[in-house]
Amino acid sequence: MLKEDFTRFVLGALLHDIGKFKQRAKYEEDRGKTHSAIGYEWLSSQYGEGLIAAAARNHHGNVSETWESNLSLIIYEADNLAASERRRFDPSTDVDKSWHQEVLLASDFSRISLDSEAPDLRTKPEMRYWPLKALGGWTVPQEDDSGGSAGVYRELWEAFCNDFACLKAANRHTDVEIMLHLMERFTSYIPSITLHITGATDRDTFRKHPDVSLFDHARVTAASASCLYLFYYSRLQDRWDRDVFKDEITGGWEDSSQDPFLLIGGDLSGVQDFIYTISSRGALKALKGRSFFLELLTEYLVSNLLEELSLTRCNVLFTGGGHFYLLAPNTEDAKNGLDSVRRATNDYLWDAFNGALSCCIAYVPMGKAAFRDATRHWAALGQELETMKRRKWEKALDKVLGPAEMPHADCLTVRCEVCAREDTPLKSVRGVLMCPSCREQFFFGEGLQKAAREANKLLRAKVGIAVWDKKPQTEGDEVLAIGLGEKQRFYKPFVIYDSHNSLPGTKWTYRLNDWDSSGYAAEGSLPLLAGIFHAGEFEDLESLVERGYGWDRAGVLRMDVDRLGKIFSSGLPPGDRTFSRMASLSRHFSLFFKYHLNGILHLDKKDGYENLVRTRVAESVRGRERLLSLVYSGGDDVFVIGHWLDVLEAAYDIEEAFSLMTYNPNITLSAGLVFAPPHHPVYRFAKDAGEAEAKAKKGGRNSLTAFGHTLRWQDAKDMRTMLVGEILPLLKKEQRALGTPVGSVSVGFLHRVLALVSPFVTRNEKKTDPASQFWLLPKVAYLTGRAAPSKEFLKASDEAKKAWMALKDRLLRQPDLQHLTKINGAVLWALMMMRKGGK
Ligand SMILES: [Zn+2]
Repeated sequence: MLKEDFTRFVLGALLHDIGKFKQRAKYEEDRGKTHSAIGYEWLSSQYGEGLIAAAARNHHGNVSETWESNLSLIIYEADNLAASERRRFDPSTDVDKSWHQEVLLASDFSRISLDSEAPDLRTKPEMRYWPLKALGGWTVPQEDDSGGSAGVYRELWEAFCNDFACLKAANRHTDVEIMLHLMERFTSYIPSITLHITGATDRDTFRKHPDVSLFDHARVTAASASCLYLFYYSRLQDRWDRDVFKDEITGGWEDSSQDPFLLIGGDLSGVQDFIYTISSRGALKALKGRSFFLELLTEYLVSNLLEELSLTRCNVLFTGGGHFYLLAPNTEDAKNGLDSVRRATNDYLWDAFNGALSCCIAYVPMGKAAFRDATRHWAALGQELETMKRRKWEKALDKVLGPAEMPHADCLTVRCEVCAREDTPLKSVRGVLMCPSCREQFFFGEGLQKAAREANKLLRAKVGIAVWDKKPQTEGDEVLAIGLGEKQRFYKPFVIYDSHNSLPGTKWTYRLNDWDSSGYAAEGSLPLLAGIFHAGEFEDLESLVERGYGWDRAGVLRMDVDRLGKIFSSGLPPGDRTFSRMASLSRHFSLFFKYHLNGILHLDKKDGYENLVRTRVAESVRGRERLLSLVYSGGDDVFVIGHWLDVLEAAYDIEEAFSLMTYNPNITLSAGLVFAPPHHPVYRFAKDAGEAEAKAKKGGRNSLTAFGHTLRWQDAKDMRTMLVGEILPLLKKEQRALGTPVGSVSVGFLHRVLALVSPFVTRNEKKTDPASQFWLLPKVAYLTGRAAPSKEFLKASDEAKKAWMALKDRLLRQPDLQHLTKINGAVLWALMMMRKGGK
């Protein structure tokens, strides 16, 4: 098949069910027609007769033409594979079934249950449904399962058609990547089927409620269709144009000797050390540059693989956090392609980073039956990757064991101040000596942050990444190179002010976090989601921290999803672990961490983000921006650095948004937060925050470790309530820090509370002195009696009076560990807001 024909074939597979979308809008012209017929008519009107329209017409077994061509059969079979999750009506247990076009898509988060491990949680997550709308803004699943009326479908369909027309006018409607993006935007919340089965119990009914979107169904169909084609064609090419291979193409579901697929996993190892082992001034930019470099490297690798394997973006199941997963055909060509990309990438990584990073790509063969339950294959792939990582430099042993190279002449007395390399020439950048790759990353990070800041300010501006295949001569310092030889690419961040703007001579342009189709009408523009939030104009962490409220301290937050592996391997009940459902779940996690996080941290973002309640403990006196930078966010984890108060508040905001979206007590986050002076080395920061995060997990997960101690989120929120309701009203919000009004409690009082409580918390956490906390009460009673605010002060303000009563009450409550930890944290929090300056 010619390359264009293959593209049209994949597009056909991707759009084969588009008729379902239009059908539910209930146009007069479609009355009485099947979704196949509706889809066929629409596609032939847009693309003409041919492979694309035929895919809609001939993808069902009851159509005779389906059985007359190999390509139709492949789409029919791919559709079946992707639909493996669908619930059948079981007359022995189910009560009723009906086709009910208004049902909403069930949230796949609501299906996750890890009850055996978390007996203290509400074990049965409540059922939630996605509202029917386009993807882009902040969306949370709702309680009620109705709302998919023809009117809503019609609005959505018309918006889809408008965007489609705009892309078609620019002849981009035949680009698989662009159409995939358009489909994701408009069909992510459309259920792929609308069969409503009523089971014996509500739970059974929910289990059978449609929960795979039209988008996930469509992309898995397109991915498997391309694999099936490449697999069968490679085996049967001599007779391909003569015969129809009915048995071969639709058979072999239970035959393990016939595995048409490869499940591919990729992993960049050394990522953590690579990002965080840096130690330099100006670290913020170096850090952002490095972490984004890894995003681009993953992206670079994935696009090389797709090219080498003749596949499209539809076959990418997941990318993020230095990992990626693809679905590929089980052919010799594909395996050779993988090997060659892996080799080329490792040669480049060895060259550029001296072995600090390496790339593993592993695969397991997979049969058709795995689409019903792919857990065994995911587990086997994980094993394979582990084994591979252990022998990562086996093939480069001569390099690893070779004689140590002499340091570069520049490095006889000094090393790169960022990464400590000593075999390359060094140059000073703003007073810091850097090796060439650190220098590139530094400038790239600086350019990216500048662009992110600018785009934050302007409503329609976007961040773009220009990509060249030859080094551009005029584009200055911010150009970052990845790869070697012919495969080398050059990247540069810039601001896209209007929808079509790009830099001269580029191969293509990534538009970051842009769902608006008008931008993709420009030739060579491609979508890319990435966490890039970066506020304010500042040179370095020191000057950022100076602008914050209260104490001049930096904060670092590390946060990730608890038991993510378990969620994927056993969160869904056996029988529900289908391939499409896994693909859908991982896409939803990825959307949160790569895309929504930007809007959650941006306090003025509209599109539904304005409905999120943000933590703003000093609201009235501060500008509306979070003084922080999202250094890394992808996969399931987050690294944020900035002013301590903004970072602490961001932790609350992220957790709140995450639990609103997942709405499931089994799916939780743990966070570790540490504070230190801004010149504290980044690698120490990263390590300390990592330890704090581990402590949160060890303390039962679903927790925040901050101020040195761990609290469940629920208690952490109570600590915030104590600060806001019981301490702040006794203090005065001044411009840069809290002050003490005349007649109120003194700073000394808060210090004395801390001095009483803090040792008990520490001792009790270590379980060395559980009984002694009861000695605390008389001391606290004495203190509150002596240090109370004056009568006049309390008389003047009802709020202060209430706060003081509540605070006294709380201090004199039966002291258990959690209670004291909350008090300790809230008082520390207040004291840090009271100190202005660096001491
Ligand atoms: Zn370096």
